[in-house]
Amino acid sequence: MSSSHRKKAPTSEALPCPECGKMRMIRVVETCRLDDGLTVKKLAHYKCSSCGSRFFDDDAMHRIQAERASHGSLSQSC
Ligand SMILES: [Zn+2]
Repeated sequence: MSSSHRKKAPTSEALPCPECGKMRMIRVVETCRLDDGLTVKKLAHYKCSSCGSRFFDDDAMHRIQAERASHGSLSQSC
């Protein structure tokens, strides 16, 4: 028999990292601090366990946008 059909294991959905290319992108829930200083608590996103770079999927982006909108104008510094 030919084993031409290959199964994808749905349990561990590791993705290739866009930075280092290793299949080490795993889903994590962590508090993220973004480049513009916005902090999103308990944000579900992907993180490379090899190089540590983060990747935000659609759900994570929606969370970030919602957090950013709720903060509004935070350009008050005195
Ligand atoms: Zn990586």
